[in-house]
Amino acid sequence: MIWDHLTSEETKKVNKTLPVVLLLCATEQHGPHLPLSTDRLIGEHFLDEINQLMEKEVIILPIIPVGCSEHHMDFSGSLTFKHATFKALVKEMVESMIVHGFNNFLLLNSHGGNQGIGQVIIETLGNKYSDCKFSLITWWKIAGDELKKINKSGSGGTGHAGEFETSLMLHIAPEMVREQSIKSLSNQQFDPLVGDMINAPQFSYFQTIKQISANGVVGSPSFSSKEQGEKISQIVTSKLVDLIKSYLL
Ligand SMILES: [Zn+2]
Repeated sequence: MIWDHLTSEETKKVNKTLPVVLLLCATEQHGPHLPLSTDRLIGEHFLDEINQLMEKEVIILPIIPVGCSEHHMDFSGSLTFKHATFKALVKEMVESMIVHGFNNFLLLNSHGGNQGIGQVIIETLGNKYSDCKFSLITWWKIAGDELKKINKSGSGGTGHAGEFETSLMLHIAPEMVREQSIKSLSNQQFDPLVGDMINAPQFSYFQTIKQISANGVVGSPSFSSKEQGEKISQIVTSKLVDLIKSYLL
């Protein structure tokens, strides 16, 4: 259910143990072919899917449209919060729901730059509220094996604004994709260490986007398609529903 579609009176009747889902996203450059809202639109798409499939079993909170994008600030248009600001915003939204008696929280993340602070937020909340449950899911991490199987651009092709994000946008909001601009970006492969969502090794590495890519794209949007976006959406949605049903309900 969509939390802010309810009246105050109606919210009192909601089962307090249902998972409360808060989207962590971003407003930042996504190369010459995708809008600044890409991470938000992708995240909102997954919220819609979950809500359609399990409307009575999840609570969807209003979103915070900006995330931690300091590493994108070399590119015009990007907006960012400092880690401390973002942490306070997310924590205080969650704490508002704790005041109303809810105890089961899922941060659904659609932006790489929110992963580290997302973990800090759930650890901070978890240590403070030992009777509550806090989880964090980043969409491309939950279905890595399945996504690898359908990956067309290979290692180093599915980074920021690359094959996967562009395919999802062709599926979700094709009118917002500047398809003409994709042609000039063909076959940009990057070191998977710094530029891959599903083929990266299991250790952390940091560079600003400008250090990795002059045009802000990390990967190969030329391998994208609407059909691929539909497949990614189905794979991730079904994983999300499985995870929520197995661990949070
Ligand atoms: Zn993105």
